[in-house]
Amino acid sequence: MSPEPIKKHADVVVVGSGPGGASVARQMARAGKRVILLERGKDYRGKAYYGTYLGALTYADKHSLLFTKEGLNIIRPLMLGGATSMYCGSAARPPAWLKERYRIDLDSYIDETITEIGIAPLPPHLRGAASTRIADAANSLGYHWEPLDKFMRPVPSTRFDCGAKCMLGCRCGAKWNAAEWVDQAVTAGCELLTEACADDLIIENRQVGGVRGKVRGQPLEIQADQVVVSAGGIGTPLLLQRAGFFEAGHGMTMDTTVMVCGVSKEKGTGEEPPMTWAYANDEIGYMLSTLIDPWLLFPMMAALKSPRHALKWPAWGRTLGVMIKIKDDISGGITLDGEISKPMTDQDLFRMNHGAIVANQILVRAGADPDSVFITPLRGTHPSGTVRIGEMLDANLQTEVKNLYVCDASTFPEALDRPTVLTILGLGKRLAAHLLAKSVPAASAAGAAEPLHAVG
Ligand SMILES: Cc1cc2nc3c(=O)[nH]c(=O)nc-3n(C[C@H](O)[C@H](O)[C@H](O)COP(=O)(O)OP(=O)(O)OC[C@H]3O[C@@H](n4cnc5c(N)ncnc54)[C@H](O)[C@@H]3O)c2cc1C
Repeated sequence: MSPEPIKKHADVVVVGSGPGGASVARQMARAGKRVILLERGKDYRGKAYYGTYLGALTYADKHSLLFTKEGLNIIRPLMLGGATSMYCGSAARPPAWLKERYRIDLDSYIDETITEIGIAPLPPHLRGAASTRIADAANSLGYHWEPLDKFMRPVPSTRFDCGAKCMLGCRCGAKWNAAEWVDQAVTAGCELLTEACADDLIIENRQVGGVRGKVRGQPLEIQADQVVVSAGGIGTPLLLQRAGFFEAGHGMTMDTTVMVCGVSKEKGTGEEPPMTWAYANDEIGYMLSTLIDPWLLFPMMAALKSPRHALKWPAWGRTLGVMIKIKDDISGGITLDGEISKPMTDQDLFRMNHGAIVANQILVRAGADPDSVFITPLRGTHPSGTVRIGEMLDANLQTEVKNLYVCDASTFPEALDRPTVLTILGLGKRLAAHLLAKSVPAASAAGAAEPLHAVG
């Protein structure tokens, strides 16, 4: 006989502690709401292996070996703070089309967040000599590269030790992580349950009533007036599918990525902060920035392309890298058993190759040996667009089930092809403001989901 579930009550349950969940939980708790935040992973900050290769094997889904049916590698951190624990700390304002086509105006929330976190480009002396050489080479070829805004706070009194290894987790403390906002939510009264996985949603008469799941193996049932699912571009559609949403995970975006690498005679980009400079070609649909894989990952990714590229490992310290992220079409999707498919469309292949031709020109101008240039295999660091605004969600991020909301990368109606986190934080603050406005007694009649129609 299965044990009696642990029962809890809350005003709001938030599922997932990445930037989407952390921002909603913090804002709601600060406003005095009873909030319970469920996170299936652990808090790995402070562990000796946090930010190491062993760490990345420990906390990323399938030990960092999660692949789509087509062989695209997805890094999916399952831990407090979500993917911000392994991100590159780059920031970009939401694309203009989010407001123009979907009526999602995040401007005031973004301005507030930029000031609060101190988002800004790194000062010139911290942008990296090789990265700056790449940007200068690009600008001399007529591509307009600019310093990229960063979630990095180089405080003179702390060690600033950022490099490609930031993608394993931040060990020097310079990089902002959504777990910090979870800490602030907890200080404001939010109950945080780690190792707590939401397995199903309680839905009756097209209205949400809470969440069922497990915490450290024990059955858990939380009754709540509102549920916000922020389990990320993969976790959210899986949870919604289990609750009977047929369209969840049907099609997805990924900002599909490769790195173009070339060996030079001088120091490379590997030991410099990732993505300090960037360039966006919004007409074709891609973004370029400075980055290569961390030292031990480099030969593995290179070998996946061809064993002969892995032989370039000894030259890692002199390797220059340009990362390409494309604005990929919605394609493929996720099935109930967690299988992911993300085929490249003809247009995706064109965008990627366009970016690769430009990256090759830039690397050679920056001093890379033309014969050494190669492109790493495809990967996906932004699984998103699986529960899209305008299709499954109204402009307030509500599903067709009353009081059931989604707030994370899965809401993107199109690929962003730029850093996602600032946009997600803006969505979280905006959703919290909406929920709080709704809970004011005079507005009690509000609440029915808006009709779901594409507003673009
Ligand atoms: C290597 C790498 C580099 C990146 N670099 C950048 C960058 O420089 N800038 C940028 O803006 N973005 C970057 N990104 C992308 C960015 O980090 C993600 O797009 C963003 O964190 C997504 O936020 P989210 O709230 O949608 O979900 P996530 O951050 O994925 O968080 C979802 C959370 O939900 C939890 N969860 C899932 N299912 C359940 C469940 N059933 N019950 C309970 N909890 C659950 C997960 O464990 C996870 O913690 C990078 C990503 C990676 C992997």
